[in-house]
Amino acid sequence: MAVPKRKSSKSVVRTRKRTIKAKVTGTAACPECGAFKELHRACKACGYYKGKQVINVEAV
Ligand SMILES: [Zn+2]
Repeated sequence: MAVPKRKSSKSVVRTRKRTIKAKVTGTAACPECGAFKELHRACKACGYYKGKQVINVEAV
């Protein structure tokens, strides 16, 4: 089995992890209320998804 010849330095590891974290966002502005929401999820602020209200936010 192949084994790394040297230990990765702190700066190499941290640079790699920075680039990974920068790619993962998964959030966008809600088209109904403009609040940040998770992609492919109903908005927690207004309860809308795909232009329809799917969660009754006012009742909670
Ligand atoms: Zn919303």
